[in-house]
Amino acid sequence: MDIKKLEQFLQENNLPKFRLGQIQKAIFADGVSSFSEITTLSKELREKMEEEMRILSFEVEKVLTAEDGQSIKALLKTVGGDLIETVLISPKPGTWSACISCQVGCAMGCRFCATGKMGFKRNLTTEEITDQVLFWRQYLKRNNIEGSFSNIVYMGMGEPFLNWDNVSESIKNLIDEKIFGFGSRSLSVSTSGIVEGIEKLAMEFPQVNLAISLHFASDKKRDLYMPVNKMDNLESLRNALKQYFETTNRKIFLEYIMLDGINDTALDAKLLADYIYSIGNTHLLHVNLIRYNTITEKTELNSESELSSEGIINSSSKTRTQLFKQELEKHRVNATIRKSLGEEIKAACGQLAGEK
Ligand code: SF4
Repeated sequence: MDIKKLEQFLQENNLPKFRLGQIQKAIFADGVSSFSEITTLSKELREKMEEEMRILSFEVEKVLTAEDGQSIKALLKTVGGDLIETVLISPKPGTWSACISCQVGCAMGCRFCATGKMGFKRNLTTEEITDQVLFWRQYLKRNNIEGSFSNIVYMGMGEPFLNWDNVSESIKNLIDEKIFGFGSRSLSVSTSGIVEGIEKLAMEFPQVNLAISLHFASDKKRDLYMPVNKMDNLESLRNALKQYFETTNRKIFLEYIMLDGINDTALDAKLLADYIYSIGNTHLLHVNLIRYNTITEKTELNSESELSSEGIINSSSKTRTQLFKQELEKHRVNATIRKSLGEEIKAACGQLAGEK
């Protein structure tokens, strides 16, 4: 829902200001799916709104629910025909988190990511970003799904700091009490490591959580698998994270995808621990070890390949992941092994590719 267009509609129709509050509450807080459900408005006004306005900026192509019911993926088609994906996850019973996209595709080209393989098509508008949250609010209501919808993570398709104007505007709408009303601390922005963006987040939204898709603690490997590292290498990232602590004094989540034989050796764990200690404030750095969800396409690298013989990157086994965690602990770094949700419906980390 484009809030500016809604305001304009009310002005053009000489409607009193309190109507805006009523409509915003019904749409953003209550999650109505059509204007006709807003019974505080006259029938005439509801009909006019149905004719002239729309609540969501896209159509729903497909919704898939995982067998355990803990993750639901929606494929959405924008007005221009682009396909984007968003996922609703229940990390624990009674709570729901939405993982939202901010771009169609992604320019960052991380070698292990399905979105990265699509390439970049365009930035999503502010409305298209927040409408994903609105969609899930409506979905929960329509399907009588209980639980609190409490967290939003910018971890879907795209790099949030490469669409900062629209992402920052969407954050403002999500934390606005009169609109979505989420707490700043319920929001997380995940970046592949764009230093300038980290600085902006710290200055503009110090209470919003920051997650870094680190995945490698050596420049050599990070250069190979995450081209962002050639622009902002590990040293620049370290300096940005130090600065982030000075500005916010808040926790940072370091995401580390477990790739079999690629970044999961004892040496990799030692390098990661050394890197963490070189940043300092280790009590504020939390490492999440994430199971990798294999994507079926072959991955091509420009230099020496460390892939399996079929050219497919595989996830580290449970045992190797556990050993990696123990190795980190030996170096005084605590980590959480994160449960991966939604693999079977391709809704998990790195699997979103706007496929029908
Ligand atoms: S991991 Fe994130 S930043 Fe990297 S290509 Fe995928 S969507 Fe883009």
